Formats: sequence, C-alpha cells, structure tokens
Amino acid sequence: MQLQVKTILNAVQHFPGFVFQDIRLERYRDDQPRCIKIAVEPHDGIPAKCSRCLKPAPGYDRMPERSWLFVPLWGLMTWFVYATRRVNCPEHGVVVEHVPWSEGKRPVTIAMMCFLSRWARRLSWRETAQAFHTSWECVYRSVEWFVQWGLAHRKLEGVQSIGVDEIHWGGSKRADNFLTVIYQIDRHCRRLLWVGKRRTQATLRRGLAALGEEVVSGLRFVCSDMWRPYLNVIAARAGEALHVLDRFHITLHLNQAVDKVRRTETGRLRAVAGGQAARLKDMRWKLLRRGSRVRGKARQQLNALVASKLATARAWILKETFQHFWSYRSLTWAGYFLKVWTERALRSRLEPMQKVARMLRTHQDLLMNWFKAKGEISSGAVEGLNNKIRVVTRRSYGFRTYKAMEIALYHNLGRLPEPEESTRRFC
Ligand SMILES: [Zn+2]
Repeated sequence: MQLQVKTILNAVQHFPGFVFQDIRLERYRDDQPRCIKIAVEPHDGIPAKCSRCLKPAPGYDRMPERSWLFVPLWGLMTWFVYATRRVNCPEHGVVVEHVPWSEGKRPVTIAMMCFLSRWARRLSWRETAQAFHTSWECVYRSVEWFVQWGLAHRKLEGVQSIGVDEIHWGGSKRADNFLTVIYQIDRHCRRLLWVGKRRTQATLRRGLAALGEEVVSGLRFVCSDMWRPYLNVIAARAGEALHVLDRFHITLHLNQAVDKVRRTETGRLRAVAGGQAARLKDMRWKLLRRGSRVRGKARQQLNALVASKLATARAWILKETFQHFWSYRSLTWAGYFLKVWTERALRSRLEPMQKVARMLRTHQDLLMNWFKAKGEISSGAVEGLNNKIRVVTRRSYGFRTYKAMEIALYHNLGRLPEPEESTRRFC
C-alpha cells in the first residue's frame, strides 16, 4: 500500500465540506525543496456557510486564491491554497464564506497558531520562530490569538482567594517598569488572573474591574503586601473579603532590613577593621536564608557571627525569632508575641528593624487575619507564582513591547483553556 500525504491530512485535519486536491512540492532553481502547497477545494454538493451565522447559503462568486500557513511537514513550510467563495446569506447579504481552518483575515491556519503557541511555552518565542521556519512576529500573533481565545473562554467561577502583588521588570525603576498582578491562590487552583502596567490605585481598580463584579463580590480572602495604594483599593472594593498580609512579604521586609543593617555595618567596619568587614560581606545569603536551612560550614560561620556583638547579628536574631509568630494557633498568644517582638525591635537601636516593627504595628489587624485564613489559602502561592513570572520575563528577554510580555505571562501562568482539541496531536 502506498501512503499518500492526502491520506495523512484527511486523518489529522478533516474539514467537512472541503477536500484536499493535489499536493505539490515546490522547488528552488537548484532543485532543492522549497515548500509544500496543498490545494483545497469545496466538496461538491455541500453548500458554503455564511461566516457570520454559519448557516448554509447560496453561492455568490469566488475570490482570488489565498494561502494559509499550515504546520510544517518534514521541515518544509506547508501552505493551504484556496480561493474562498462569497455567499449570499438571506440575513447578512453578500459575505465571505466560513473557512474552518482560518480565523478572520489571518494568513496562518488555526492549527499552526495552536502549534506555535504550544511550542512557545517550551521554547522562547525566538527559538520557536527559528525551529519552525517562521518569524518572531508570526509566533507573537499566534500566541496573542491563542491567549485571547483562552481569556474569552476561561471560567472565573469559584475564585475565592486572590493575591495581589507588584513585580518589577526590565532595567529601570520607572513607574512603567512595575506590574500589578492578581493571582488566584485557592488551594485547588493557582493561576495568574490579571496583569497590568504600574502599581497605582488606578491599576488595581482596573484589574478588579476586569475580573468583574461577580468575582470581586464573591471573594473570601485577599492577600497582599503593605503597599499603601493596594491597601486602599482592597479596603474600598473588596471590603467583604478578609484582607490578609502575606507571610512571604513580611519575611521579605525582614530580610531587607537585615541586609540593610549588614550593609551599613560593613561600611562602618571597613573604616576600622578591614578583615571583619570582608567576612560580613560574604555572609549575605546565609543571613537571608531561613536559619534552619543553613547547614555545615555556613552554619558555623553564622554561629560565630551570632556570638559576636555585631549589629547584624542582633538584626538576624530578631528576624529569626519572628518566624515563631506564624506557628501560633491561638490569636491571643500570637498577638502577645507580636507585642513583645515589636517592643524588642523598637528598643534595638537598629533603624531598619524599627521600621519593620512600626509597619507591623500599623497593620496589626491585617497581620492577625493571617491566622483566620490559615489553611484556606495556599501560603507560598504568591511567592511561587512570582518566581515563575521572573522565569518568563527573563527568558523572554527578546520581548519588544510590554504587550508581548503581558501575553506571554497569561500564556504561561494563566492556565487558560485551549482552542481546537484536534490540533493537539501536532505538538
Ligand atoms: Zn449569515
């Protein structure tokens, strides 16, 4: 038996009402293969459909031939070639017929857009373009379409907990280089729900509006950092939900404070005792890690530091002690611990630690909400998703515009539904 390309095509991409006619291999002058052209023809006896209402309609005339890029075969660019008909729809007048492999005016088949989009999650967009003999622009347009389809078809019912955060991307610290992200952080589903430029009140208001009134009013928990614009908007727009300050962010603030103390002290020591300053400089990651995770030689160095009377050591001990806070079961005891801890920090004469203590006191109510939400929201979800965002923004270093990056984030972290189950076999 002779296997024909047509047989394969009919097996993988059959379009009712259309048939694959002849399939030609086009060559360059030097006889090297150039591309494959697949001529498509309408099936006799099956009328064309109106592209607006998808109802069969009498034919009107035929347009000039067009090509659509299809999934490459054996490394060769592959095209569908077809002259679309126009129909005279009783409802919509003379319109172009519905073409099942195509979407709007795009020169790329749906199958190919799905193919490129799925690959664009495993490779960078540039690599995807190179691997499949197409342009970066083509990959971008495909992923854009894929994501828009997903966003239009995703379900937001059952979103109970969200995390709101800001992410820095790109080089400069301009306002435009910050993103506001909204994640779903329910135990059963963690995903990116929304991303927008900047980190102002207006940004977050825009994000919540995009999720819709129904989602916002159904929220039970909102998790965020102590960033003032967010606190304001959450209080105003999602007042019914329990607002929780995230453990991950508090730890981040404590770590930053310890690091600030260390840097100041390194500078001071350098003036008097060079060796000790250098040793402190090497301690950075050992100080920032959770204490219980520092082992071996690093642990010995850390112990030696703690035994010293250095300011960095005192800051570190304060930070480590605060970890106990999260393990309380009783609200009363947790509150008592917080009181004692902040008093200690305020007396420490370490300005960065005092600043954290003041901040925690100001937002004590929100901090205590953490215990009420315990077990309901997935702790660490915001941190995990933030890390994934960094991977995407870094890999896609080649993103030319903000819009492209936004699309890549939804594409990789949005858990969006996907179109065309039948094209899955191509990748
Ligand atoms: Zn119609």
